[in-house]
Amino acid sequence: MPRKGSIDFSSFDPESQQPGTKQIYWLDVTALPGGDMLRLAVLVVKGKEPGPTLVALGGVHGDEYEGPHAVRLVYGKLDPADVKGSFIGVPQCNVPAFAAGTRTSPVDGLNLARIFPGDPRGTVTERIAWNLAKHVIDRAALLIDLHSSGVNTDIAPLIGYCLSESDLGRKSLDAALAFGMPALWGHPDLGPGRSISYAHERGIPWLYTETNGGGWLVQKNARRYAAGVVNVLKRLGILSGKPNPPKPERHLIGDGNNDVTGLRVNESGYFVSEVNVLDKLKKGDLIGRVVNIAGETIDQTLAPDDGTIVLLRANPTVAAGDSVAVLTGEKDV
Ligand SMILES: [Zn+2]
Repeated sequence: MPRKGSIDFSSFDPESQQPGTKQIYWLDVTALPGGDMLRLAVLVVKGKEPGPTLVALGGVHGDEYEGPHAVRLVYGKLDPADVKGSFIGVPQCNVPAFAAGTRTSPVDGLNLARIFPGDPRGTVTERIAWNLAKHVIDRAALLIDLHSSGVNTDIAPLIGYCLSESDLGRKSLDAALAFGMPALWGHPDLGPGRSISYAHERGIPWLYTETNGGGWLVQKNARRYAAGVVNVLKRLGILSGKPNPPKPERHLIGDGNNDVTGLRVNESGYFVSEVNVLDKLKKGDLIGRVVNIAGETIDQTLAPDDGTIVLLRANPTVAAGDSVAVLTGEKDV
């Protein structure tokens, strides 16, 4: 049963919201095992004048804290009198994972970033995906999904975009440059199941961000995200003024599905990395070692090709088969 003050996701109708207003919607997804209703907060700024809609997501992974804070900062900052079009922000997409402080959901074990578009009759996480896809992302002229490194990894501060000669690709790169992050990461291929894969299939230009997080809130990174979203709002004409982004220092190119491209350890133990994110490596360079609790080296991870380290295991507790690093290509900026 919907709680007082909340409505079913399928009744979400920001088009009927009064122009020139801000509104928080509490939208029901499904009941959790204890009977409490799982609700998502959806923050809508509807401009006085019509125009495109930017959708920003945070907290698709529950242990990433910069995106949720950034979405709320943008919502707080926007004055609907200045807006032409709409901003729709979902600060905390995977609420059960956030409550548990975990990347994936404690309810069904699923990774919300691998199951889009979800299933309206599926598990709890599949239902979250479905509602976000059909009732939020479908409204977007552009989607930005704000991730960060979470508790286990270090990752370069970057913005991922669609590397393609298509209209979608051009709009994605244009918005990535307007956002302004130290590194661009162009993806010719994404793999299925992400929010941005869903947007891509629907012809909606998309971006996602990464930054070092560490399982706690890094406020300067959240503020950088908020400034980036505001820059894109300006680029799309939803806000007046020109974006003022810093120029990217690095331009990475490669497949964005880290589950597939990650380099894995062969033994369980304590992982000690020998490199840093954004280091350029040659084939055969040592990325890190697994030691046992006595300190004896029991496994080594070597670069299988030349490339740039974009993601690196930071929490040293590893089990055989865990991914510890991602290498990608790079071109000159
Ligand atoms: Zn993430």
